[in-house]
Amino acid sequence: MNPLSDLIARLGGRVLTDPADLASYSTDASRARPEGLPAAVVVARSSADVAAAVEWANRNDVKVSVRGSGTGLAGGAVAYPGGLVISLAGMNRIVAIDPANRLAEVEAGVITADIDRAAAEHGLMYAPDPASYRESTIGGNIATNAGGLRCVKYGVTADSIAALEVVLASGEIIRTGSRTRKNVVGYDLTNLFVGSEGTLGIVTAVTVRLRPRPVGTTVTFRAAFPTIAAAGRAVSAIMSSDVVPEVLELMDRTSVDVVEKFYPTGLSTDGASALLVGQFIGRTAIGDLEQATTMCRKAGAISVEQAEGDILLEARRVSSRALSAEGLRVSSDVAVPIARLADMFEAVERISAEEGVPIPTFAHAGDGNLHPSVIVRGDDDETYVDAERILDRITDTALSLGGTMSGEHGVGSLKYGSLAKQLDPATLAAHRLIKTAFDPKGILTPGRGV
Ligand SMILES: Cc1cc2nc3c(=O)[nH]c(=O)nc-3n(C[C@H](O)[C@H](O)[C@H](O)COP(=O)(O)OP(=O)(O)OC[C@H]3O[C@@H](n4cnc5c(N)ncnc54)[C@H](O)[C@@H]3O)c2cc1C
Repeated sequence: MNPLSDLIARLGGRVLTDPADLASYSTDASRARPEGLPAAVVVARSSADVAAAVEWANRNDVKVSVRGSGTGLAGGAVAYPGGLVISLAGMNRIVAIDPANRLAEVEAGVITADIDRAAAEHGLMYAPDPASYRESTIGGNIATNAGGLRCVKYGVTADSIAALEVVLASGEIIRTGSRTRKNVVGYDLTNLFVGSEGTLGIVTAVTVRLRPRPVGTTVTFRAAFPTIAAAGRAVSAIMSSDVVPEVLELMDRTSVDVVEKFYPTGLSTDGASALLVGQFIGRTAIGDLEQATTMCRKAGAISVEQAEGDILLEARRVSSRALSAEGLRVSSDVAVPIARLADMFEAVERISAEEGVPIPTFAHAGDGNLHPSVIVRGDDDETYVDAERILDRITDTALSLGGTMSGEHGVGSLKYGSLAKQLDPATLAAHRLIKTAFDPKGILTPGRGV
C-alpha cells in the first residue's frame, strides 16, 4: 500500500490532500515561506489521531510540522515540502475548570483567551496574554513559551503550566508534571517541553494554573521622558521596588508617531524621547500608582498623566497594527537585563541613524523585552536581506549587553542560523543530545528551534 493510503486508511477524513487545503496550512504569520507543499495535513481530533499520525511519519521518514493557529512569528510551523502537517486547532475542548485547585484541563488547540474567559466565570484568570491571545492556541503558546503584557506581574507561559500530555516521535503518549502545587519526582519534563517549539514532542493536553482575578480599582499612568536613559532609570526603579505593575510598557518617539498617525488620540511626545505606560489593579492600586509616578518624576519625567481604567494603554495595544499599516516590517524580539534596557534603546536609535531607516521600538519594559521593527518599503528580496542585516546588528547588540536573541517568539526557522551566536558549541551540543534522545530519526520540526 502506498504510505499515504495507509495514513488515510487509519485517519479517514481527518487527512487533507487537496492542494488548496495544503496551502492554507503551510504558512505562519512570519515572513518564512514554504519551499513546496506538504504531502498531507492531519486535522487531529484526539491524542490518538496525533499518535497515529506521528507513528506513521516516523515509520515512513516523513518530516512533521506542528500547527496550532499559525500566528507564530519565527517560521516554526511552516510546512516541509512532501512533509506532514499535524494541526491541533480542532482539539479545542475546555475539559474542566477546577476552581478549588485553581487548575484547568484543556486540549492543546484551545484558543488562549477562551481559557481566560472560562476562568473568569469562577473569579479566576489564566494570566499569560500574548497580544495574539484571541487567535493563538495554548499548545502554540507552550511550544514558544509565549509572553504578553501581563507577564511582568504573573510570569510567562511556563509559570502557568502544571502538567502536559505529549505525543513523542515514536507515537507513544507520555504525561509530565502533576496537579499538585509541589512535585519533585523525576526530571522537570514539563519545562523541557515548554519552549521546545515542536522539536521534542507534540503537546495534546494541558493542565494550566489559574490565579485569582484581580478585583478593585484599575488605574493607568503615562509618563513622558526627555531621554531614553531617564525612562530606563524609571523602569529600573519601579522594577526593583515593592510595587508590581500589571503592565509596564515603553514606546520610543518613532513608535509613538506611527501609532498617532494610525489611531489619533492626541498622543504626543512633545519633545520627549519616550513614553512609559503602566497599570495597577486591585485594593492597593491607587497607592502603588502614586509611588510609581513619584519614581518617574524622580527619574526625570517631564509630564505624567493618570486615568482610571484602560484608556491610556490603548495606544500601546494598537502599536502592532499601526506598524503593519506603515508597510511590511521585519521585527525582532530581543531581550536584555532590565538595567540595560536604556542602553539597548539607545543602540537601536544609533543603528537607525547610521542605516538611515526608521526603527520604531516598543518594549515590555518590565521584562526587558523589546520589539524593534525595520519598516520595509517594497517586497523584493534585496530589501528583505538588508532589513535582516539591520536586525542582525540589533541582535548582536542585545547579546553584547548580556541579552538573548529571542525573548518570546522563539527561534523557529528564521533565527536558526544565528543559534551559535548565543549558545557556545558545548551548550548547543547538549541541546542536540536531548533532541536526538527524544527524536532519533529527526522527524519532528527538523532544522528549526535547536
Ligand atoms: C498580531 C500578533 C501578536 C503577537 N503577540 C505576541 C505576544 O505578545 N507574545 C508572544 O509571545 N507572541 C506573540 N505573537 C506570536 C505568536 O502568536 C505566538 O508565538 C503564539 O504562541 C503562537 O501560537 P499558535 O497557536 O499560533 O502557534 P503556531 O504559529 O501554529 O506554532 C508556533 C510554534 O509552536 C509549535 N506548536 C504549535 N502547537 C504545538 C503543539 N500542540 N505541540 C507542540 N508544538 C506546537 C509549532 O510547531 C511552531 O514551532 C504574536 C503574533 C501575532 C501575529
